Amino acid sequence: MNYQSTANPLHISNFEEAVFKGLPDSSGLYMPMQIPHLPSSFFSQLHELSLPEIGFQVLRPFVGSEINETTFRNIVDETLSFPIPLKQIHDQVYSLELFHGPTLAFKDVGARFLARILGHFATLNNRSITVLVATSGDTGSAVAHGFYGVQNVDVVVLYPKGKVSDFQRKQMTTLGKNIQAIEIDGTFDDCQDLVKKAFLDRNLQDKYNLTSANSINVVRFLPQMVYYFWAIAQLKSTYSPSSEIPVNVSVPSGNYGNLTAGLLAKRMGLGIDHFIAAANANNSFPNYLTTGSYSPKPSIATLSNAMDVGAPSNIRRINALYDSEPKKIANDVSSGSFSDQDCLQTIDYVYKKYKYILDPHGAIGYKALSLVPEQGVSICLETAHPIKFKEVVEAVIPDQVTMPTHVERNLNEEYILSLNKDYSIFKDYLISSR
Ligand SMILES: *Cc1c(COP(=O)(O)O)cnc(C)c1O
Repeated sequence: MNYQSTANPLHISNFEEAVFKGLPDSSGLYMPMQIPHLPSSFFSQLHELSLPEIGFQVLRPFVGSEINETTFRNIVDETLSFPIPLKQIHDQVYSLELFHGPTLAFKDVGARFLARILGHFATLNNRSITVLVATSGDTGSAVAHGFYGVQNVDVVVLYPKGKVSDFQRKQMTTLGKNIQAIEIDGTFDDCQDLVKKAFLDRNLQDKYNLTSANSINVVRFLPQMVYYFWAIAQLKSTYSPSSEIPVNVSVPSGNYGNLTAGLLAKRMGLGIDHFIAAANANNSFPNYLTTGSYSPKPSIATLSNAMDVGAPSNIRRINALYDSEPKKIANDVSSGSFSDQDCLQTIDYVYKKYKYILDPHGAIGYKALSLVPEQGVSICLETAHPIKFKEVVEAVIPDQVTMPTHVERNLNEEYILSLNKDYSIFKDYLISSR
């Protein structure tokens, strides 16, 4: 499969190049040049397939012959090695729990796939690569866990000292092996600056094969399609496999990668009738749909902080899918913006009424169901485990949130390197440690 820039149709790459470059040019994102349509036999058997089998069949056409079938099957099996259950909250409303992976958020899916794909190409081409990533918390831990133990890949993750939660920090610093965590005496922007400078530094770049694990890389975004198929597979085994109940899916959104993956799944023939893009106070996308003109804004801090994005990158991909016509987008997507107060009230209401604990992101998703008429089945994506936002959630509900057993491992011994924000020191470290 070839990939094309949303900004320049002449910028075309094969899968491997799209993965390693991350971005085709300064203003576009990669999009697959064809959208494969899956055969009707796939859809009629969907409810009998396992999650990894669905993953393999959905993703295979996007990779094509660039990776052999057996290797690709292993990559998909390892990526999707944790459960993604569809749980009933009440009546015809369900939560797709995307938080059972190692860092308790849906970003584990994309990060694990990216890690294995990069590791595969590195081994094949007989070179080792270094992934540099700056994080304000969640992305760094998902990427670090995704790459943990992957051969021929070293990860260097930079986070701002004192500005990530204890839990987030430990998820990056207790791994060891091929994962080096560096705390920078500065802000997230300082971390990002160091990473940018390293990428622009030709000496480093050529010598150490520096690669980014950017969230807009196609390999982080494509595997997110799989769980939309898996949600429908689970519904089909709950209801009758041939049932034609309308399905709405609500997606708590920030950079809109998750929503874009759902829209692509629909284009591949998946029976989802309507999407709801649930935004917090960062309302550029809902405004785009209502006014028809897009104006990015600086981000606003909210309780659902992984959605605090004022200028969502994936609008470019959504525009590419809908000929840049907001009216066409609105046929498939409703969108609205909700406040922190809505978020807290929803956590409280859903727990009191149904004993289901939502996290602040999932709560925005649930609340946004109110944007469309009640009809058929509604699925809310639960993008993070409520334990990650323990303080917020426990201030609202009368009970405690418990830590899932698979992350209760030893989070004690931390390996941290502390540096200031000086580029030459960071560069010296990179050179001496490679
Ligand atoms: C990243 C993230 C989101 C937003 O997803 P996008 O694909 O950027 O729209 C929502 N919830 C959680 C918990 C996240 O980590």
